[in-house]
Amino acid sequence: MLLSGSTTQLEQKVEAVKSVAETKVQLLQGDSSQAKSELARLSKELHSVALARDQWQRDCEKWKAQADMYQEKTGKSLEEMQNMETRRMALEGMCSDQDEIMERLRRETAIAVEQKRLAEELASRRGDENVELKRKVESLEALVVEKETQMKEGEEIRKRLHNTIMELKGNIRVFCRVRPVGDGECGTAPKTATPLVEYPSQGDQKDRAIKVLAPSGSSGMSSEFQPFEFTFDRVFPAQSTQEDVFDEISQLVQSALDGYKVCIFAYGQTGSGKTYTMLGNNENNGVIPRVMQQVFQTSNELREQGWNFRMRASILEVYNEEYKDLLGKHLAANEKHKVHHDAHGNTTVSGLTTVDVSKPENAAELLRRAMEKRAVGATKMNDNSSRSHMVFTLKLDGSNEGTQQHVQGVLNLIDLAGSERVKASGSQGDRLKEAQNINKSLSALGDVIMALGTKNEHVPYRNSKLTWLLQNSLSGASKVLMFVNISPAQESANESLCSLRFAAKVNACEIGVARRTVKTDPKDSQPTRSPRSR
Ligand code: ADP
Ligand code: MG
Repeated sequence: MLLSGSTTQLEQKVEAVKSVAETKVQLLQGDSSQAKSELARLSKELHSVALARDQWQRDCEKWKAQADMYQEKTGKSLEEMQNMETRRMALEGMCSDQDEIMERLRRETAIAVEQKRLAEELASRRGDENVELKRKVESLEALVVEKETQMKEGEEIRKRLHNTIMELKGNIRVFCRVRPVGDGECGTAPKTATPLVEYPSQGDQKDRAIKVLAPSGSSGMSSEFQPFEFTFDRVFPAQSTQEDVFDEISQLVQSALDGYKVCIFAYGQTGSGKTYTMLGNNENNGVIPRVMQQVFQTSNELREQGWNFRMRASILEVYNEEYKDLLGKHLAANEKHKVHHDAHGNTTVSGLTTVDVSKPENAAELLRRAMEKRAVGATKMNDNSSRSHMVFTLKLDGSNEGTQQHVQGVLNLIDLAGSERVKASGSQGDRLKEAQNINKSLSALGDVIMALGTKNEHVPYRNSKLTWLLQNSLSGASKVLMFVNISPAQESANESLCSLRFAAKVNACEIGVARRTVKTDPKDSQPTRSPRSR
């Protein structure tokens, strides 16, 4: 039993080994077929690799031959190629330079384009601005035209008002001017400290009244001094300046530019300040230089309103009842200046030098020449006493092409000869004759003004050469201003009283309402316009 068990075990083991061996055989049989097919694949692959190698070998030979051929060729043109290479490199350098230039140009072009764009933008903005400005200019131009019209109308109204004021003030006015007390003169009444000249200032007397102490009695020789009071349109005390005086005058200058005839006289005894008032000196210009200045200034301003003024000046003196040209040559002994008045109220003097004055300096030069020529003679009272009347005449012819108007104004500025009475100056011979002629012509001037004031039919213009010359400026169509110049000295008290009495008579006069000389072209239907008044 034990053996049989072993035999069985053995048999089982043999069977197991047999099974394993069979499995292994089977596996090995499988591997072998796989290896066979692998081998077949590999031999095939080896064959194709050998074929490829042969092909490469052939290609290699072919390339080698080609390489040799190229080598040969390249070797021959190496220099050429080097040259070409150099040139290529140079060209490449140039190219790169060119590129840089191109780049720079591109940048510059871009800047220029931007600038152009900005400029165009600006131009278009400017264009807009220009249109706007043009519009503004047009509206301003329209405004200017409107304002000019308003201004002309306003000036016309102002001119009428000005003239009304002047007429209310009176067409004959008298201003009294007292000069300062001179060195060595006594300005008080004898044996007292009472000033000889005082200026009452109550109520409406202010700036208009003057009180002088003068010898009482009709002869004026008394040693007793008593007060005399006078009222004028204006009294200028000793401290008044040339400016103060001219302030009042300038309105009359405007009247002359408006076409009126104006006379301004300086009346008074020798040494009372007539020449100082009318001419003044280098430091203190008097009425005449200031009038000239104003005339030039105003006529320039009026130019803007279309007015053109022609100004002609003449200066003459009336000496011993004869006319003398102070700007020209003296006439031959048998020749005399003759005064002619035409129907339009214009006065001309034959043979008289008339100078076109375009600047105030020209007038100053004319005055200087005239003063040199003016007849002066020594008297007991004043070594440089003026023994003649000096008449400075300025004719103003204004025309306005726009309105077809013409105005003709005349300004007569007269520095009268000394009014002192013959006895007082102790003159004899020629001096006596001079004094008589002066007195005659001054009283004729007073008579003419008084005849005008009393509306007398007969006005004695012919009684003196002075009134005859000035008749057109001393009639209804004119404005007259008289300065009565007074010396405050004790020794002049009597003459001062005479002067004040004369002036008071003139002051009481009134001449007719002035009519100005305005000619308007008949073709022109517009209302008359005239230069502006101040
Ligand atoms: P007339 O011409 O009346 O003879 P002037 O004008 O020659 O008198 O004046 C006499 C002197 O008095 C001159 O020396 C002048 O300078 C001086 N004089 C006259 N008036 C004034 C014044 N208002 N202020 C200063 N000096 C004056
Ligand atoms: Mg004088």
